[in-house]
Amino acid sequence: MTQTASKSLNPLPLKERMKLPRQPMREQPPVLRAANYKEVNLGYSEELARQEALRCLECAKPVCVQECPVGVKVKEFVQLIVAGDFMGAAAKIREDNVLPAITGRVCPQEDHCEGGCLMGKKVQPLGIGYLERFVADYEQQHMDRSKIRRAQPSGKKVAIVGSGPSGLTAAGDLVQKGHEVHVFEALHELGGVLVYGIPEFRLPKQIIREQIDYMRGMGLQFETNVVVGKTVTINELMDEEGYDAIFIGTGAGLPVFMGIPGEHLNGVYSANEFLTRINLMHAYEFPQYDEPMLDLHGKDVAVIGGGNTALDAIRSALRLGAKKAYVVYRRSEAEMPARKEEVKHAREEGIEFRMLTNPIEFLSDGKGWLSGMRCQRMELGEPDASGRRRPVPVAGSEFDLPLSVAVIAIGTSANPLIQSTTPGLQTNKRNYIEADATTQRTSRKGVFAGGDIVTGSATVILAMGAGRRAAQSIHEYLTTGKW
Ligand SMILES: Cc1cc2nc3c(=O)[nH]c(=O)nc-3n(C[C@H](O)[C@H](O)[C@H](O)COP(=O)(O)OP(=O)(O)OC[C@H]3O[C@@H](n4cnc5c(N)ncnc54)[C@H](O)[C@@H]3O)c2cc1C
Repeated sequence: MTQTASKSLNPLPLKERMKLPRQPMREQPPVLRAANYKEVNLGYSEELARQEALRCLECAKPVCVQECPVGVKVKEFVQLIVAGDFMGAAAKIREDNVLPAITGRVCPQEDHCEGGCLMGKKVQPLGIGYLERFVADYEQQHMDRSKIRRAQPSGKKVAIVGSGPSGLTAAGDLVQKGHEVHVFEALHELGGVLVYGIPEFRLPKQIIREQIDYMRGMGLQFETNVVVGKTVTINELMDEEGYDAIFIGTGAGLPVFMGIPGEHLNGVYSANEFLTRINLMHAYEFPQYDEPMLDLHGKDVAVIGGGNTALDAIRSALRLGAKKAYVVYRRSEAEMPARKEEVKHAREEGIEFRMLTNPIEFLSDGKGWLSGMRCQRMELGEPDASGRRRPVPVAGSEFDLPLSVAVIAIGTSANPLIQSTTPGLQTNKRNYIEADATTQRTSRKGVFAGGDIVTGSATVILAMGAGRRAAQSIHEYLTTGKW
């Protein structure tokens, strides 16, 4: 039975809690995992989870909750772990987060909940992400799906466009309020970047499927292979198919290229294509699947960029047999936007980091294939608009890096399809959809938007936060009729 978490069951005085070390995550050893595609992190045992939960200081005003874009009640779910009520802890997280097994794995906790943890000012912060993952996995193994509660039907119908974290979150929150929710996805698999971008060794596809199955149990309906803007337009969904409101969460999946000579050569990929070939076309499951365009065995591979996408691409390349695997980044490690844990894991696995290095040309073998990359060394100057120190080329520092494959992971932009087929939908000059930051309303009545299609490439939890805000505003709109 689920307990309420109002009273602390933690037997330790606060001073003692500060003395407990943060419990490390169990993980596959680097040498082993660099040669397989199984998940790197192995999760907490019940014992480790309890030990870690005992460290929580149970702050009167928990900053970790304020720092979470979806407002997970961290203190309360951690108290339930201390009490040994793991299913209760899972239910507590689910009040605010419909994808806990996913955020527990890929959320940059250091920038949110753990970044706000008071304990982190003196010692290591509470392992909130690890605990969330433990609870979500425990729930998955022990739940009785027949007991998932369905809300009373409201009689209103909502379309969600895109099944990434923003769409899934909006859908999950709306179905719990009784609305009939249909999710339309352009691809044949559900999950957005979670499934086509983030590789199996960080986020197993089975975890995503289980979370989506749970949502089916809540009453959500999913339709794949529907490209909104082509198969059906936003106007048709509203005027002919009777949807009362629409949420657009189509992400920012259009690759950005470097615009340097040689980019057309065979062997130069966008990270989007590279990771889709691996994840959706199953290159990582050779020989059960054969993806002939992507044979990396014995090849030297470099990825250009310093974010999560870059690290996912290069760690995938290593696992697919690359001889040398480089990250080439024009700033220094301190400016890398990737999660710290991923940088650490990549280094342990043998990825070589070429920092303060910028490609200026892809070199040809004379037969149309990539043979190398001409690079220039950089140094850091004054901060730019992003607040990070601007990389400045060092004159005369050019050198060539021999390569067979280069992957460009310097960012993405908005796919323009829905914007160009929806009259009256306002966009900014970079073609992202304009939506109010609090209500997620767009310029079109009844149409809301959120996630990367509004902000540009960001994070899973920020997309989920937008999905939550949109669900709240859609519910208000559907119940009051006010725009
Ligand atoms: C490789 C990679 C690794 C990442 N790693 C992390 C990480 O570790 N931690 C983290 O927090 N963030 C990470 N991110 C960023 C994070 O995944 C995104 O910010 C997040 O997925 C955005 O969610 P979204 O719902 O806005 O869009 P998406 O996840 O992009 O989902 C959009 C969905 O809409 C669908 N769609 C697009 N157009 C249409 C249409 N016209 N009709 C129907 N469907 C459509 C797409 O097919 C897609 O499924 C990573 C991103 C990448 C690319």
